[in-house]
Amino acid sequence: MTGPGPGGGSGTARDVLRAPHPALSAAAEPVDPIDPGVVAAAADLLATLRGLPATTGLAAPQIGLSGRLIAFDTARHPRSRSYAGECVLANPRLVGASHWDHGREGCASIAGLTADVLRATRITVHAHLPGTGEAVTIEADAFEARCIQHQLDHLDGLLFLDRVPGALSLHIQLHSCDA
Ligand SMILES: [Zn+2]
Repeated sequence: MTGPGPGGGSGTARDVLRAPHPALSAAAEPVDPIDPGVVAAAADLLATLRGLPATTGLAAPQIGLSGRLIAFDTARHPRSRSYAGECVLANPRLVGASHWDHGREGCASIAGLTADVLRATRITVHAHLPGTGEAVTIEADAFEARCIQHQLDHLDGLLFLDRVPGALSLHIQLHSCDA
């Protein structure tokens, strides 16, 4: 099943940066979704995500790119309900958020820790597709909504650790599903 995105396997998997790398705390810049460099970056992000079977989403800053690109595919997560497919989005923007709840999440940039984070469980996101520049609207709920909000945070230089009150909120990772 293939959702919005450049498709194909043309990207190159890159190393995922680990906290506290400074690139993870910097805000990412808007991108031109039809710029060939942006299309290549989107393909690299997707290739990197595909190479991490326990990870359901990544944002460009995690592979050292400062553009506003996210990729996600929540197919394998047991708490998923909505499923937009394997997506790569340029300049994603949260335009609707409701039904807030705590839920467990982890991050490919933070080894071995998870935390309960308050997120909206129903969201609407506007974005553009890398390559065509087509405007898309994604409606997501449950874990997919959580995963997308986690990636949006990366574009603003935020990690899930920034959204929990302290060390007592953290958990040693017991399962392998990262947001
Ligand atoms: Zn993350």
